[in-house]
Formats: sequence, C-alpha cells, structure tokens
Amino acid sequence: MDNPPKPLLTPKEFSERIVPELVRRWENHCYCRSPKFIKLVSFNFEDYGNSPMSLIDAELMISNIIFKRFEPVSGWVSSNGGSDRVDRCPQCAEIFQSRYDQYSISMDRTTTRPRNPLPRAPTGDYTVAIHYFRGGEESLRQIKDFRVADSVEVFIAGITNVE
Ligand SMILES: [Zn+2]
Repeated sequence: MDNPPKPLLTPKEFSERIVPELVRRWENHCYCRSPKFIKLVSFNFEDYGNSPMSLIDAELMISNIIFKRFEPVSGWVSSNGGSDRVDRCPQCAEIFQSRYDQYSISMDRTTTRPRNPLPRAPTGDYTVAIHYFRGGEESLRQIKDFRVADSVEVFIAGITNVE
C-alpha cells in the first residue's frame, strides 16, 4: 500500500508554531463558525470503522482551545468506559460535547462535536499525523475527507477562516 502521508510538522513543532498563533487569533474571534475548525475537532475514527485512530492536530486543538479556553459546563463524567464533558465557548456560547477513550497505553483519542449543527467543511486539513494501530492501514485508507495541508500557512488560514 501507499505509505502514510508525509507530515509537515511534529507534534512539538505544531505546539510551538501553530498553537500560539491560533490561540492569539482565537482571542480576537472564536472558531465556532470556522468550518475547517469544526471539521478538524469532529474527527472521529468511528466514522470510518472500528479500529481506533486519533488525529494529532485535532487532539492538540481540542486540548489547547476547548479544554483550556472554553468554560467547563460539566467537567469529565465517566461513561461506557470513557469520559464525556461539555464546554461552552466564552465568546459565542456554543456548546461542545467531547468524548475521551483510551484503547491502549499508546492509543487514546478525543473527539468533539458542537451541540448545534454548525457549518462543517467537507474536507479537513492536518499537518502532523493520524495515529493508528499497527495493522490499521485499512482503517487509514477509509479516510478520504482529511489530507495533509499544502503548507502550515494554508492550515492556519483554513482554521481562522470564519463564516
Ligand atoms: Zn465560539
């Protein structure tokens, strides 16, 4: 099969180059009306099959924007072997529901959905990687609506493009 797409950044580089820029811009305008942001944080391997996968870019955006900067509504609540939580955007008051599951010592994932249907882009961009279990290439192949961004600048422009 084809090799997994070559990433643009490591997680550390994403945290150093992209997170501060996106946080700085978020302070001026939230991303709840950014279809690319909604697409990214909504990534859920269950849309593609049963083999756990996590999208590193989504994990880092959820942890740095939603969990650090939104207002917690519920805090973590255990359910079905994982955890759920609800957060509210402090700028526009949209409610987001997040789900966390851990599948192994090296595989966990968080996925987030807005409670109200917000505009979601048909395709998402990422810069780091989709993490998958060894032998999970078939699952990876099912993902046709996410691709490596052409550049870091294109990725940032997509996330910050609010309707
Ligand atoms: Zn908002």
